Amino acid sequence: MADDNSSTSKYNIATELVFIDSEAVKDNYNAASVPIYQTATFKQREADGSGGEYDYSRSGNPTRTAVEAHLAKIMKAERAFVVSTGMTALDVILRLVKTGQEIITGDDLYGGTNRLLTYVSQYNGVKVHNVDTTDVVQIEQRLDPVKTRLVLLESPTNPLIKIADVRRVADRVHQLCPSALVVVDNTMMSPYLQNTLDMGVDIEYHSGTKYLSGHHDLMAGVIGCRSAQVAEQLYFVINSNGSGLGAFDCWLLLRGVKTLAIRMEKQQSNAILIADFLEAQGFRVHYPGLQSHPRYELHKSLASGPGAVLSFETGDVALSERIVEAARLWSISVSFGCVNSLISMPCKMSHSSIPAEVRKQRQLPEDLIRLCVGIEHVDDLIGDLTNALQKAGVQVKH
Ligand SMILES: *Cc1c(COP(=O)(O)O)cnc(C)c1O
Repeated sequence: MADDNSSTSKYNIATELVFIDSEAVKDNYNAASVPIYQTATFKQREADGSGGEYDYSRSGNPTRTAVEAHLAKIMKAERAFVVSTGMTALDVILRLVKTGQEIITGDDLYGGTNRLLTYVSQYNGVKVHNVDTTDVVQIEQRLDPVKTRLVLLESPTNPLIKIADVRRVADRVHQLCPSALVVVDNTMMSPYLQNTLDMGVDIEYHSGTKYLSGHHDLMAGVIGCRSAQVAEQLYFVINSNGSGLGAFDCWLLLRGVKTLAIRMEKQQSNAILIADFLEAQGFRVHYPGLQSHPRYELHKSLASGPGAVLSFETGDVALSERIVEAARLWSISVSFGCVNSLISMPCKMSHSSIPAEVRKQRQLPEDLIRLCVGIEHVDDLIGDLTNALQKAGVQVKH
């Protein structure tokens, strides 16, 4: 399987991101940019309604086909799908789980993921086990060859930047529970830094709102899978519930993806310097690019870089609030993956939908500050952080 996939990739990923296979869309005029087919319906030739490749945009649209083919290549997927948001991607995948079946997942999940899984467990009779997915044994203990349907991982997690041994988890789950699917939310790394389908994962999904689009001007979700059979099931859901991405957003996503490599390289090199700066100030910094990260080596074996999201603890919620509010260049905003740098306090923002007592139980520090590093000049970013720290009352070491 992996061999089949790798043979389709002829160039380095930075090249593949830019190179759009013009075979995917048979455009009459050889348009250099894939056209936006802003149409709900397509005329047919035959009286019985057949004859055309497309009939109705809920079922398929040429602009969507183009971005799906491109992303399948980038993710080394048998097939990829684009849907309206990252949460929709998860929702589509969750339709593979029947009442009575079980999901094993992490305890440091994206807030919206936690909310949707809670819904499914309350309304659909699906049991969800939240475990520390950095410990394969905890996953194994919950595996049930009959009931387990999905094992859902994030690595690195957000905002605590915990690393799961994705390869080993996939191996163990497939060995012990052949009917279970291993699913990874790969949003934090993007396909540029981490390819989980190559590691034996069955389904990888992304919030396309983040790195894939890169400019926070679009919401999208992306799903890639390894098997044609799972792809058929996912397509059935997307065609049934109409969650496929609209033509204009498909076009924006395709435009964004082309610059993923150059954006990520810059954001990551900035992030590495910022992580060093914060660590030098004595803060506890969570970033897989730091040798102090407990899973530094493991992450290096999974991904080609540490990415551009990091978090740090100040030890004092009020101090963290003062720092966040004193920053000027860093916008206070949820989300990440944008060319602009963002700062936030996850417990008050992106993760506030997780009840306070659950946050405590999962050891999510209330003073945690998350930084999502953009493409600005790093001197300006560190300068602005320095100012914010000083204004908040921290003695900055130079
Ligand atoms: C943002 C995000 C999502 C949800 O994506 P939307 O596009 O906002 O629906 C899921 N997982 C992770 C890790 C995210 O950061």
